[in-house]
Amino acid sequence: MRLQGKTAVVTGAGTGIGQAIALAFAKEGASVVVDYVGNASVAEETLNKISAMGGKSLGVAADVSNPDQVNRLIQQTLAAFGKLDIFVNNAGIEKKFAFVDYPLEEWQKIVAVNLTGAFLCSQAAARQMIAQGSGGRIINISSIHEDLAFPLNAAYSATKGGIRMLMRTIAVELAPHQITVNNIGPGAIYTPIDKDVESDAKLNDRILAEIPMGRWGKPEEVALLAVYLASEDAAYVTGSTHFIDGGMLRNAGSL
Ligand code: NAD
Repeated sequence: MRLQGKTAVVTGAGTGIGQAIALAFAKEGASVVVDYVGNASVAEETLNKISAMGGKSLGVAADVSNPDQVNRLIQQTLAAFGKLDIFVNNAGIEKKFAFVDYPLEEWQKIVAVNLTGAFLCSQAAARQMIAQGSGGRIINISSIHEDLAFPLNAAYSATKGGIRMLMRTIAVELAPHQITVNNIGPGAIYTPIDKDVESDAKLNDRILAEIPMGRWGKPEEVALLAVYLASEDAAYVTGSTHFIDGGMLRNAGSL
């Protein structure tokens, strides 16, 4: 059990990659706070699966773009488990528009969740970890699109690029406190965020053609990388993005 005795918060952990990370952390012995937005039913599946494996968990409704709700998320974590060791900024949204038509309110919404959310959560987590004095782990679920252009997704790409420099900068600031900060940059991982592909076989074929390994990645594969970065084994790993994409990023432009 690589995370025995640790307390972890995973944002947006009711579905997809966040759910897989929450389950993998629980399997490794961590107590897991499952953050979600909206109806409590969003978190139920994750919470039920953790209790089925005998793990400890708590569901907390908190919008990562709202400072008060983020503070409440930390307070509820401490009330339930007494400390915070690992914080995963996983919550993310995307919406496609041609750049010239991109509505300002959609841009602002995506920046608020993907980038301001990571800022607020990382700041609240770091303050708590520094106060505890025993180090910590901050992990952002970024994307290959922190590096690779993503036409029709100017807002999403800009936030993922922003998370890259947020991570690099705060990794340096927090290193003296033994708090590591890293990004995971997934390629195409099949989750609810990719709903548009389900009904579009041509789009699916186009995506597969871009992936040297010829398949989508699985949320569980991303979760195993998160377990490593959260573990003691990764104590000296900080300030980097760790891509997990079946070679997609290296293939870009080779067709
Ligand atoms: P998903 O839609 O299942 O997960 C996103 C989660 O974030 C959802 O549970 C959603 O309810 C939650 N969320 C949305 N707004 C929130 C808010 N304001 N506060 C708290 N939670 C909020 O999709 P996913 O693929 O699992 O995405 C998880 C992360 O992985 C995202 O940051 C996404 O950008 C990133 N990512 C996904 C892929 C992929 O191919 N699926 C690739 C690269 C990066």
